[in-house]
Amino acid sequence: MDKNFKEEFRQIIKFEPPLYKQRHQFVKDLVEKYKPKKVADLGCADCSLLWMLKFCSCIEVLAGLDICANVMKEKMHTLSPLPVDYLQPSERSLTITLHHGSVAHKDPCMLGFDLVTCIELIEHLEESELKKFPEVVFGFMAPSIVVISTPNSEFNCLLPRVMLYRHPDHKFEWSQAEFQSWALETARCYDYSVEFTGVGHPPKGMEKVGFCTQIGVFFRKCPQTGESVQSEKPMEAVYKTVFKAVYPSLKDEKYLQNAVISEVIFTAQIIKHRLMSKREEYSDDPERKSKFQLSMDYFSDYLGKLVVEKNMEPFVSGNVVYIPLTTIFSFPKVNRLCGTFEKLCKLIAGKVTLSSDGSAVMFNIEHENEEN
Ligand code: SAH
Repeated sequence: MDKNFKEEFRQIIKFEPPLYKQRHQFVKDLVEKYKPKKVADLGCADCSLLWMLKFCSCIEVLAGLDICANVMKEKMHTLSPLPVDYLQPSERSLTITLHHGSVAHKDPCMLGFDLVTCIELIEHLEESELKKFPEVVFGFMAPSIVVISTPNSEFNCLLPRVMLYRHPDHKFEWSQAEFQSWALETARCYDYSVEFTGVGHPPKGMEKVGFCTQIGVFFRKCPQTGESVQSEKPMEAVYKTVFKAVYPSLKDEKYLQNAVISEVIFTAQIIKHRLMSKREEYSDDPERKSKFQLSMDYFSDYLGKLVVEKNMEPFVSGNVVYIPLTTIFSFPKVNRLCGTFEKLCKLIAGKVTLSSDGSAVMFNIEHENEEN
């Protein structure tokens, strides 16, 4: 390569967004494409990739592993649920766990993952660890997809300040041919296919050097049966769990119950409000007021139709408004939360004031009448 040409690039190569963000975005795109439920990030460092992945709604289990507990602990608090997660629990469940340990060791907590990411990890492994790594990741964990990224040493000539390796802790940096031959051999041994790509495009005219970060995406050829996971003989845990967060989820009955109760009361209040404002319009006519029935034009066309079809009309009797549970159940959000009418009844039993036959939510409007 022409020395002047190289010198020129050394001055100007700057990735936008920064390369680490491009690597993380690459993983996020992969998650959005393949929708894995369980994802493990090996060599997770300060958990920044895990933090990004916690927002991917398909993921229900996230795990991080690093040999350095301190680097994980720095920002692990960012993986904890926020108050808003409790106020509005998500429909999916999400558990995030961080383990302290080495990718050179097998631990049963790493079984059952769909996607395993190793971003800029392998070049930090000692020769003995690198030897064990394929058996741990591809042989033992055996996820459907493995992503491995590592520096492409051919790109280093374009990077300012890089003398031997890009980081003092790197044990090696591979050319494209070296990485690809290791990856192809690993894939062959464990029955995976591998596709090569990367992030950090080389400048125009320098395409031959390849991406700044080279990436191999491995796909397991045979679907793994539940049996092969279970057939692993019971083994001792060697990793130490340093963090665990279980996010509030509507899959958990106690959060579902709270959400349903709030939604039922909210829905009933809206119906009552509409009923009362209409009633006021009729207030000059005392007979109509006392025997007031809800008419269609209180509601949107959608609800109006339901009221007609299912003959479920809220009504006022004396100082009490009755809003049938069937009406409340027909509201999409309540319906989606509960699934069945029986479940709705079960979840609100004893928590919401119901009519004596349990078929309607009751509101006493005595004070509202006084105010009026
Ligand atoms: N994956 C992160 C950072 C990679 S730096 C990112 O995308 O930004 C490499 C990380 O691997 C470091 O945090 C280091 O502590 C960890 N590491 C090194 N050897 C390891 C081993 N044998 N097992 C697990 N983690 C290891």
